Amino acid sequence: MGAITLKGVEKWFGPAQVIKGIDLEVGAGEFVVFVGPSGCGKSTLLRMIGGLEDTSRGQILIDGSDVTDQPPSGRGLTMVFQSYALYPHMTVGENMGFSLKTAGAPKPEIEAKVAAAAEVLKLEPLLERRPKDLSGGQRQRVAIGRSIVREPTAFLFDEPLSNLDAALRVEMRYEIAKLHRRLKKAMIYVTHDQVEAMTLADRIVVLDAGRIAQVGSPRALYERPANLFVAQFIGSPK
Ligand code: ADP
Ligand code: MG
Repeated sequence: MGAITLKGVEKWFGPAQVIKGIDLEVGAGEFVVFVGPSGCGKSTLLRMIGGLEDTSRGQILIDGSDVTDQPPSGRGLTMVFQSYALYPHMTVGENMGFSLKTAGAPKPEIEAKVAAAAEVLKLEPLLERRPKDLSGGQRQRVAIGRSIVREPTAFLFDEPLSNLDAALRVEMRYEIAKLHRRLKKAMIYVTHDQVEAMTLADRIVVLDAGRIAQVGSPRALYERPANLFVAQFIGSPK
Protein backbone atom coordinates (compact mmCIF):
# COMPACT_ATOMS: atom_id res chain seq x y z
CA MET A 1 0.00 0.00 0.00
CA GLY A 2 1.31 3.42 -0.96
CA ALA A 3 1.57 6.38 1.38
CA ILE A 4 -0.28 8.37 -1.28
CA THR A 5 -2.44 6.87 -4.03
CA LEU A 6 -4.08 8.78 -6.86
CA LYS A 7 -6.84 7.05 -8.83
CA GLY A 8 -8.15 8.66 -12.00
CA VAL A 9 -7.64 12.14 -10.59
CA GLU A 10 -8.98 15.02 -12.68
CA LYS A 11 -9.44 18.74 -12.29
CA TRP A 12 -11.45 21.33 -14.17
CA PHE A 13 -11.30 25.06 -13.63
CA GLY A 14 -14.66 25.98 -15.18
CA PRO A 15 -14.56 24.56 -18.72
CA ALA A 16 -10.79 24.03 -18.71
CA GLN A 17 -9.51 20.60 -17.76
CA VAL A 18 -6.02 21.01 -16.30
CA ILE A 19 -5.48 17.56 -14.68
CA LYS A 20 -6.37 14.51 -16.75
CA GLY A 21 -6.74 10.96 -15.43
CA ILE A 22 -3.73 10.75 -13.11
CA ASP A 23 -3.00 7.32 -11.58
CA LEU A 24 -0.01 7.21 -9.27
CA GLU A 25 1.20 5.45 -6.16
CA VAL A 26 3.85 7.05 -3.96
CA GLY A 27 5.46 4.57 -1.57
CA ALA A 28 6.11 5.24 2.11
CA GLY A 29 9.56 6.78 2.22
CA GLU A 30 9.67 7.42 -1.51
CA PHE A 31 10.90 10.73 -3.00
CA VAL A 32 8.81 11.55 -6.07
CA VAL A 33 9.44 14.65 -8.16
CA PHE A 34 6.84 16.24 -10.46
CA VAL A 35 8.47 18.02 -13.37
CA GLY A 36 7.16 19.66 -16.52
CA PRO A 37 6.91 23.06 -18.16
CA SER A 38 5.16 26.01 -16.59
CA GLY A 39 1.39 25.61 -16.64
CA CYS A 40 1.38 21.79 -17.05
CA GLY A 41 -0.47 21.33 -13.74
CA LYS A 42 2.27 20.49 -11.21
CA SER A 43 1.08 22.91 -8.54
CA THR A 44 -2.58 22.12 -9.09
CA LEU A 45 -1.98 18.38 -8.67
CA LEU A 46 0.13 18.94 -5.55
CA ARG A 47 -2.50 21.27 -4.08
CA MET A 48 -5.18 18.66 -4.77
CA ILE A 49 -3.14 16.08 -2.86
CA GLY A 50 -2.73 18.56 -0.02
CA GLY A 51 -6.45 19.39 -0.06
CA LEU A 52 -5.99 23.04 -1.05
CA GLU A 53 -7.88 22.42 -4.30
CA ASP A 54 -10.83 20.11 -4.53
CA THR A 55 -10.76 17.11 -6.84
CA SER A 56 -13.26 17.22 -9.71
CA ARG A 57 -13.12 13.46 -10.33
CA GLY A 58 -11.18 10.47 -8.98
CA GLN A 59 -9.83 9.57 -5.57
CA ILE A 60 -6.92 10.48 -3.34
CA LEU A 61 -5.90 7.97 -0.67
CA ILE A 62 -3.43 8.56 2.13
CA ASP A 63 -2.20 5.53 4.03
CA GLY A 64 -5.09 3.64 2.47
CA SER A 65 -7.91 5.98 3.55
CA ASP A 66 -9.88 7.99 1.07
CA VAL A 67 -9.25 11.67 1.85
CA THR A 68 -10.69 13.09 -1.38
CA ASP A 69 -13.27 15.10 0.53
CA GLN A 70 -11.16 15.82 3.61
CA PRO A 71 -9.91 19.32 4.38
CA PRO A 72 -6.12 19.86 4.42
CA SER A 73 -5.96 19.46 8.20
CA GLY A 74 -7.48 15.97 8.02
CA ARG A 75 -4.85 14.56 5.65
CA GLY A 76 -1.74 14.25 7.79
CA LEU A 77 0.37 15.96 5.12
CA THR A 78 2.34 19.13 5.17
CA MET A 79 3.14 21.59 2.38
CA VAL A 80 6.31 23.66 2.02
CA PHE A 81 6.12 26.60 -0.39
CA GLN A 82 8.65 28.93 -1.91
CA SER A 83 7.25 31.84 0.08
CA TYR A 84 8.16 31.18 3.66
CA ALA A 85 5.32 33.15 5.32
CA LEU A 86 6.97 33.06 8.73
CA TYR A 87 5.36 35.12 11.48
CA PRO A 88 7.62 38.19 11.76
CA HIS A 89 6.83 38.93 15.42
CA MET A 90 7.67 35.41 16.59
CA THR A 91 11.07 33.86 17.16
CA VAL A 92 12.25 30.90 15.10
CA GLY A 93 11.33 28.54 17.93
CA GLU A 94 7.87 30.07 18.29
CA ASN A 95 7.31 29.89 14.55
CA MET A 96 8.22 26.22 14.56
CA GLY A 97 6.01 25.38 17.53
CA PHE A 98 3.04 27.52 16.57
CA SER A 99 0.91 24.87 14.85
CA LEU A 100 1.35 22.51 17.82
CA LYS A 101 0.43 25.30 20.22
CA THR A 102 -2.70 26.05 18.19
CA ALA A 103 -3.58 22.37 18.31
CA GLY A 104 -3.37 22.52 22.11
CA ALA A 105 -0.23 20.43 22.60
CA PRO A 106 1.36 20.73 26.06
CA LYS A 107 4.42 22.96 26.33
CA PRO A 108 6.98 20.24 27.11
CA GLU A 109 5.84 18.29 24.04
CA ILE A 110 6.11 21.40 21.85
CA GLU A 111 9.59 22.12 23.20
CA ALA A 112 10.76 18.56 22.62
CA LYS A 113 9.46 18.47 19.04
CA VAL A 114 10.87 21.89 18.20
CA ALA A 115 14.24 20.87 19.67
CA ALA A 116 14.27 17.65 17.64
CA ALA A 117 13.40 19.49 14.40
CA ALA A 118 15.99 22.19 15.15
CA GLU A 119 18.62 19.51 15.60
CA VAL A 120 17.78 17.87 12.25
CA LEU A 121 17.93 21.22 10.46
CA LYS A 122 20.84 22.71 12.43
CA LEU A 123 18.65 25.54 13.63
CA GLU A 124 19.56 25.27 17.33
CA PRO A 125 21.69 28.46 17.41
CA LEU A 126 18.90 30.44 15.72
CA LEU A 127 15.88 29.51 17.87
CA GLU A 128 15.69 32.89 19.62
CA ARG A 129 16.10 34.97 16.44
CA ARG A 130 13.33 36.63 14.45
CA PRO A 131 12.76 35.97 10.74
CA LYS A 132 14.12 39.40 9.71
CA ASP A 133 17.52 38.44 11.15
CA LEU A 134 17.80 35.27 9.04
CA SER A 135 19.19 34.62 5.57
CA GLY A 136 16.96 33.24 2.82
CA GLY A 137 18.30 29.74 3.32
CA GLN A 138 17.78 29.91 7.07
CA ARG A 139 14.19 31.08 6.59
CA GLN A 140 13.53 28.20 4.25
CA ARG A 141 14.95 25.83 6.87
CA VAL A 142 12.57 27.28 9.47
CA ALA A 143 9.67 26.79 7.07
CA ILE A 144 10.67 23.14 6.70
CA GLY A 145 11.17 22.85 10.47
CA ARG A 146 7.65 24.10 11.00
CA SER A 147 6.36 21.17 8.96
CA ILE A 148 8.59 18.56 10.59
CA VAL A 149 7.22 19.23 14.08
CA ARG A 150 3.80 18.09 12.95
CA GLU A 151 5.19 14.65 12.08
CA PRO A 152 3.29 14.35 8.80
CA THR A 153 2.82 11.14 6.82
CA ALA A 154 4.27 12.93 3.81
CA PHE A 155 5.79 16.24 2.75
CA LEU A 156 4.65 18.19 -0.28
CA PHE A 157 7.08 20.76 -1.67
CA ASP A 158 6.14 23.30 -4.35
CA GLU A 159 9.34 24.75 -5.85
CA PRO A 160 10.68 25.45 -2.37
CA LEU A 161 14.05 26.69 -3.60
CA SER A 162 13.05 28.88 -6.51
CA ASN A 163 13.47 32.14 -4.57
CA LEU A 164 17.04 31.32 -3.51
CA ASP A 165 20.24 32.19 -5.32
CA ALA A 166 22.13 29.45 -7.17
CA ALA A 167 24.66 28.61 -4.43
CA LEU A 168 22.01 28.43 -1.74
CA ARG A 169 19.81 26.31 -3.97
CA VAL A 170 22.54 23.71 -4.20
CA GLU A 171 23.07 23.77 -0.45
CA MET A 172 19.35 23.46 0.32
CA ARG A 173 18.94 20.70 -2.22
CA TYR A 174 21.55 18.78 -0.30
CA GLU A 175 19.74 19.57 2.98
CA ILE A 176 16.44 18.28 1.61
CA ALA A 177 18.09 15.05 0.40
CA LYS A 178 19.59 14.61 3.86
CA LEU A 179 16.25 15.31 5.51
CA HIS A 180 14.63 12.63 3.38
CA ARG A 181 17.29 10.06 4.26
CA ARG A 182 16.85 10.89 7.91
CA LEU A 183 13.05 11.04 8.18
CA LYS A 184 12.31 8.35 5.58
CA LYS A 185 8.92 9.91 4.83
CA ALA A 186 7.15 10.09 1.50
CA MET A 187 7.97 13.35 -0.25
CA ILE A 188 6.46 14.85 -3.38
CA TYR A 189 8.53 17.67 -4.75
CA VAL A 190 7.48 19.98 -7.58
CA THR A 191 10.15 21.69 -9.64
CA HIS A 192 10.80 22.88 -13.17
CA ASP A 193 14.54 22.43 -12.55
CA GLN A 194 15.81 19.26 -14.23
CA VAL A 195 18.95 19.11 -12.07
CA GLU A 196 16.91 19.19 -8.87
CA ALA A 197 14.66 16.48 -10.25
CA MET A 198 17.53 14.22 -11.35
CA THR A 199 19.45 14.54 -8.09
CA LEU A 200 16.59 14.28 -5.58
CA ALA A 201 14.13 11.82 -7.08
CA ASP A 202 13.67 8.12 -6.52
CA ARG A 203 11.11 8.49 -9.30
CA ILE A 204 10.28 11.36 -11.60
CA VAL A 205 6.77 12.04 -12.89
CA VAL A 206 6.90 14.08 -16.10
CA LEU A 207 3.69 16.03 -16.64
CA ASP A 208 2.60 17.31 -20.03
CA ALA A 209 -0.57 19.42 -20.18
CA GLY A 210 -2.19 17.70 -17.19
CA ARG A 211 -1.26 14.13 -18.16
CA ILE A 212 1.58 11.88 -17.08
CA ALA A 213 4.01 11.67 -20.00
CA GLN A 214 6.26 9.18 -18.19
CA VAL A 215 7.08 7.91 -14.70
CA GLY A 216 10.40 6.32 -13.85
CA SER A 217 13.73 6.56 -12.12
CA PRO A 218 15.95 9.46 -13.22
CA ARG A 219 18.17 6.95 -14.97
CA ALA A 220 15.30 5.21 -16.80
CA LEU A 221 13.95 8.53 -18.03
CA TYR A 222 17.37 9.63 -19.17
CA GLU A 223 18.24 6.39 -20.90
CA ARG A 224 14.80 5.41 -22.19
CA PRO A 225 12.59 8.48 -22.56
CA ALA A 226 9.11 7.46 -23.74
CA ASN A 227 8.90 10.24 -26.29
CA LEU A 228 10.50 13.41 -27.57
CA PHE A 229 8.75 15.59 -25.00
CA VAL A 230 10.32 13.64 -22.13
CA ALA A 231 13.68 13.46 -23.88
CA GLN A 232 13.75 17.20 -24.41
CA PHE A 233 12.60 17.92 -20.90
CA ILE A 234 15.04 15.58 -19.18
CA GLY A 235 17.82 16.58 -21.54
CA SER A 236 18.67 13.06 -22.70
CA PRO A 237 20.24 12.50 -26.11
CA LYS A 238 17.32 10.65 -27.80
P1 ADP B 1 2.41 24.58 -12.97
O1 ADP B 1 2.50 24.56 -11.48
O2 ADP B 1 2.85 23.32 -13.63
O3 ADP B 1 3.12 25.76 -13.56
P2 ADP B 1 -0.40 25.08 -12.48
O4 ADP B 1 -0.86 23.88 -11.77
O5 ADP B 1 -0.14 26.30 -11.68
O6 ADP B 1 0.87 24.74 -13.38
O7 ADP B 1 -1.47 25.47 -13.58
C1 ADP B 1 -2.02 24.50 -14.49
C2 ADP B 1 -3.07 25.17 -15.35
O8 ADP B 1 -4.21 25.50 -14.56
C3 ADP B 1 -2.61 26.46 -15.99
O9 ADP B 1 -3.16 26.55 -17.26
C4 ADP B 1 -3.19 27.52 -15.07
O10 ADP B 1 -3.41 28.71 -15.77
C5 ADP B 1 -4.48 26.87 -14.62
N1 ADP B 1 -4.93 27.31 -13.28
C6 ADP B 1 -4.23 27.15 -12.13
N2 ADP B 1 -4.94 27.62 -11.08
C7 ADP B 1 -6.11 28.09 -11.59
C8 ADP B 1 -7.28 28.71 -11.03
N3 ADP B 1 -7.39 28.91 -9.72
N4 ADP B 1 -8.27 29.05 -11.87
C9 ADP B 1 -8.19 28.82 -13.20
N5 ADP B 1 -7.12 28.26 -13.80
C10 ADP B 1 -6.10 27.89 -13.01
MG1 MG C 1 3.53 25.80 -10.11
